[in-house]
Parts: sequence; C-alpha cells; structure tokens
Amino acid sequence: MERIYNFSPGPATLPTSVLERARDELLNWRGTGMSVMEVSHRGKEFIALAERSVDALRELLGIPDNYRVLFLQGGATMQFAAVPLNLAGPNDTADYVTTGNWGVKAVGEARRYLHANEAATGRDGNFTSIPDPATWRVSDDARYLHLVSNETVVGVEFHETPDVSDAPIIADMSSTLLSRPVDVDCYGVIYAGAQKNVGPPGVTVVIVREDLLGQARPETPTVVNYRAMADTDSMSNTPPTFTWYVAGLVLEWVRAQGGLDAMAERNHRKASKLYAAIDGSDFFDNPVDPACRSWMNIPFTLADTNLDALFLKQSAEAGLANLKGHRLVGGMRASIYNALPEAGVDALIEFMSDFEARHG
Ligand SMILES: *Cc1c(COP(=O)(O)O)cnc(C)c1O
Repeated sequence: MERIYNFSPGPATLPTSVLERARDELLNWRGTGMSVMEVSHRGKEFIALAERSVDALRELLGIPDNYRVLFLQGGATMQFAAVPLNLAGPNDTADYVTTGNWGVKAVGEARRYLHANEAATGRDGNFTSIPDPATWRVSDDARYLHLVSNETVVGVEFHETPDVSDAPIIADMSSTLLSRPVDVDCYGVIYAGAQKNVGPPGVTVVIVREDLLGQARPETPTVVNYRAMADTDSMSNTPPTFTWYVAGLVLEWVRAQGGLDAMAERNHRKASKLYAAIDGSDFFDNPVDPACRSWMNIPFTLADTNLDALFLKQSAEAGLANLKGHRLVGGMRASIYNALPEAGVDALIEFMSDFEARHG
C-alpha cells in the first residue's frame, strides 16, 4: 500500500525518509547488533545521539548559550503543571493569555498551583482572533506570562511575539516549533510536545533560560524539575529512547531541507494556497482573522454541514486522511505540519474544488 497524505493534528505525519531510515536501522543500530530501543541510555552510543540531537536543535533554532535544552516526558500537558511548579510559589501570580482551548487548559491547570490571572482571552469571539496586546490586563507582579504560540484546534497563531510585560514569556509551541525561525531570547521557557513537528509522541522539548533554573518548589517531581533535569542532561531517569532517536532523525531531516528559513518559506506557501482556495469559494469557510491564521492547522467548514460525512468519506478514499475537525469546532481541519508535503496540499485543494463542483 502507498503512503497517503495524513492531515492528522497529532500524532502527526513523519517524513517518509525518517521512517525508512528507522526501519533500516531497526535490528542493528550503528553496528551494535541491537536496536536503539535495546541499548542503555547511559551507553556511549546513546549519549552521543542525545548530544547530537540537542546540538542540532540548538543550531536550527539559534538557541543562545544561556538557555538549556531538555528532553522531558509527560507531554505539553505535564508542562501546564511543571511551569508553575518550577517558576512560582503558591501565593505568586502569573498571567495567562487564552487564544484557544490549549490556553484554557493551561490556565485551568495553573490555578491548582498559583494565582493565575487571565490577562486576555479570545473566548468572546469564539477564539477566531487574538486580542490586541495593547488591551491585555497584565499584572505588575506576574512571575511570568504564558501564551500558546499556535492554537492547534482553532487555528490561531501569533506571527509576532507580543511585548507587553516585563515578566518572562512562557510559550507552548507544541504545534509550531520547527515550522519557522523563533527569537528564542524573547522567551523564558519554550516547550513543545514532540508529536506535531518534532517526532513521535513521548518526548517534550523544553528550552529554558538559565536564570529561571533552581526556583522550583521543593515538592516538584524530579522528572519535571528543570534544574534537576538540566544537571543530568535530561537523564535523571530512563528517557524515552526510541522517541528521542526518531526526533534526532527528524532534526537531521529539517537541516537537510535547508533549516527553519526554508521550512518557513514552504509552510507559508502551503498555508497561503489553502487559505486562498477556502476564501475563493462560497462553499468553504475559515472564520479566523487573517492577521492570525495558523500556518499549521487550518480549520474549515462546508456551507452545508449535511455534506460533512460525505466529504470525509470521499477525501479518505482519495488518500487524504484525518481531515475531521476537532469536536469543539466541528467541520474539517487540515493540519499541514513540516512533514506534510506540498503535493498533499495541492491534492487537497484539487479534491475540494472537485467536491464543490459536484455538490456546491
Ligand atoms: C497537542 C498539544 C498539546 C497537548 O500535548 P500533549 O503532549 O498531549 O500533552 C498542548 N498544547 C498544544 C498547543 C498542542 O498542540
């Protein structure tokens, strides 16, 4: 069977060449006579792999020397708790900007640990736009400002880093990391679950500024304590070795594609043509403010929702998988991460235009 175009929001499509390489090396990794899953994480081969992947991420993102790169577990959801535990005490305040359901989840979790102030929200407009940063009600004493750089469900993305608070910005970049360059030094902490652009689920990239290490509450679990994990090169306990290995292959693949400038150019082109197809039709609609439309996740609805099931059935038959929208917003969603080829976007646009001609 041929590989299809997989528009899944996550776990998401991986580059075919990465999967082929993992297959080829599966039984005998780097001449060890074992798979990478079977070797010690303390052995020199795996330590070298870990170092190479951290170096590759540093190079791709241009991460300054005063930041540490951690590979943790527990997903982005674990970071919703790890951030307040590492950066603030129970009586402290932190600002949260909610531009979609992930931001809402993050502030909900944070409320268990500190005073979380919702400084701005897109809720009133059904999360179809980002409130103007000039209107955000930030706290004078906030320990940090948390935002979600790309909201995976509603398809809203910050295209610039807001500059409204003296507090460090903590960003959930789960569905945008590696899709474009980032000014890392605008942030205190950047985190991302791997299963969108970085690799398979199981690893969470955390990039933390060194001055924010060492402030964790005593009760913080060691495996999410930034200081403890930085001091052990993310190996206080057994890391998810296979995921880490595949993430390393993805980082090499991104480098071979020309790095993040090249990824950004391609991702912008892919998103622009899909938005143009949606906007150019009366049959399809995307409600998001064009100023903050996501390059990665593009929700759209059909003029006649009775046709949703047929659209999904026929698109799947045409080799375009996982286009069903999130249950919160309905309709369709095309997630077009780095590894979703431009030809897949072209095929989707062609299918949409054909479907409209038949049913519009
Ligand atoms: C997928 C996603 C999450 C959840 O990640 P888990 O690894 O499942 O915890 C959080 N935030 C954003 C922006 C996401 O896209």
